[in-house]
Amino acid sequence: MRRVLVTGGGSGIGRAIAHHFADEGDEVTVAGRRMSALEETRGSRQMTCRTVDVTDEASVAALFDNPYDVVVANAGGGVTGKVAQLSLADWNRVMAVNLTGVFLTFRAALQNMEEGGRLIAIASTASLQGGSNIGAYSASKHGVLGLVRSLAVEVAKTGITCNAVCPGFVDTDMAAAAVDGVMKRFDISRHKAEGMVVGGNPMKRMIRPEEVVSAVGFLASDGASSVNGHALSVSGGEI
Ligand code: NAP
Repeated sequence: MRRVLVTGGGSGIGRAIAHHFADEGDEVTVAGRRMSALEETRGSRQMTCRTVDVTDEASVAALFDNPYDVVVANAGGGVTGKVAQLSLADWNRVMAVNLTGVFLTFRAALQNMEEGGRLIAIASTASLQGGSNIGAYSASKHGVLGLVRSLAVEVAKTGITCNAVCPGFVDTDMAAAAVDGVMKRFDISRHKAEGMVVGGNPMKRMIRPEEVVSAVGFLASDGASSVNGHALSVSGGEI
């Protein structure tokens, strides 16, 4: 039985990851800002719910009063807009949650993580390529990969690994918000907007949360003990 922490576990990908580990019999803690969302994730499963703001150093540190074997830094958020029009506040907000949040989470995890531990960041295909309207998001997610690849080298001799999963558009609230944004920006139907959003994926469909879960499950497995500093694309061939 592993002790697993999933940040952003109150919805979407994080919820699916938490359910996977709980169903495997692991001891799961889900963390996020909204306790009600975390409790919804828990439902009738055995799970601990803890509030955290991953952008706040003390709040993150408090989560690690006990060690975890698997830490999934999944909490994140998006902002769209062309770089030329982006406000500094939006830039700072997305960097704080997507990049500083992962840094604070992994740094705190390392204070008491034992040999064989697993650090897994939910990054994005936007960690591996840029695109119009996603400058801040993509920069934050590229930053996550820089952190993961460097940390992987630093922990290599301890039996801990550090990796990233890079999904394309996944069928969650975040992707729904992206579709809404495209509908508004181009004044087009939902059907058309969905087509545009999944257009970069050669499979021409959203990734399912369970498909991201499988990648996380692999990286957390004993068999992945030599996979370190890797960015695992789950994108239907987009990358
Ligand atoms: P989501 O449903 O919006 O989940 C994001 C989660 O992060 C929420 O549960 C939210 O919970 C939590 N969160 C946000 N800010 C936080 C903060 N400051 N402190 C603690 N928790 C915070 O979206 P999702 O699609 O599942 O996204 C999960 C991760 O996958 C993100 O890192 C995202 O960038 C990445 N990703 C998503 C897609 C996609 O297409 N959906 C594709 C590639 C990568 P609270 O609001 O309760 O805090």
